[in-house]
Amino acid sequence: MLQLGVKMRFILIAIIVFGCSQQESVEVPRFSGVKAFQYLEKQCEFGPRNPGSTGHKEFANYLENFLKERFDNILIQEFEYIEPVTESLRKGKNFIVQFNQDAKYRLLIGAHWDTRAISDQDKNIEHKTLPVLGANDGGSGTAILMTLYDMFTADEPPIGIDLVFFDAEDVGRSFEGNTFAVGSEFFSKNLPIKKPDFAIIVDMVGDKQLNLPIERFSYNIAPKKVKEIWDMAEDLSLNAFEKRIVEEIYDDHVPLWENAQIPAIDIIDFKYPNLFYNHWHTQQDIPENCSPKSLEQVGTLLLNYIYVSDHK
Ligand SMILES: [Zn+2]
Repeated sequence: MLQLGVKMRFILIAIIVFGCSQQESVEVPRFSGVKAFQYLEKQCEFGPRNPGSTGHKEFANYLENFLKERFDNILIQEFEYIEPVTESLRKGKNFIVQFNQDAKYRLLIGAHWDTRAISDQDKNIEHKTLPVLGANDGGSGTAILMTLYDMFTADEPPIGIDLVFFDAEDVGRSFEGNTFAVGSEFFSKNLPIKKPDFAIIVDMVGDKQLNLPIERFSYNIAPKKVKEIWDMAEDLSLNAFEKRIVEEIYDDHVPLWENAQIPAIDIIDFKYPNLFYNHWHTQQDIPENCSPKSLEQVGTLLLNYIYVSDHK
């Protein structure tokens, strides 16, 4: 009996060890928040990137060259629209890069690269008509996508990844949600790629005081995915992620679901920097109020989700 007991214990240990090594054999690449932060600062060097501005035009050219540098077939989706907040006719450009073209399962990761034409939430009346620099609102999500682009051009991801840089997100009239996300609306009504299986939008994820509760539309659209992602963040001790559901935010994920039935969620910190102060849509949306560590938490989560999830 003793002999058998030892043997059984050995088998049990072998199963445990084997089981662990199976899980740990997935090597997840490390996301550099420092590098992503450099891309955030780089965008801000162009000044505000609101539609119609010099910064918008020049950064669009920069991004196009950046993406073309290591990739032959980038897609540029061009469109025209009346910008709700300025009532001006504008030209928009969504940039799309697809990795692992043959993969059956495809995940869209999206962010908006445009910034807002006015600082309508600024308390200083002189600032309200000035464009936002958008270090966080526009800059942070785009910086994450640029960093992922670097990584995926070096090593192909294990699933299909569609990186989408949306234009014309921050063009809406304050508190009229569906006047925002014009680039995503055009994309979802005129899908230029095979319909992805799932989409994650990252927006306002550079805040120094990062808090990422669950945005309500995301939970309503894809509750299981939300649970899996926030559970994963907890396992990885990414403590910006908070398992509580907060208000609905009309961001680029909503048109994806409504127009193209792509299950889509939004990772967003809407309290910038916190409940008591506000830098969102003000002159204070600057790199000094953002942090590499915040970008790193979100990038780390995305890479773990891409490499470790069974994507069911
Ligand atoms: Zn905004």
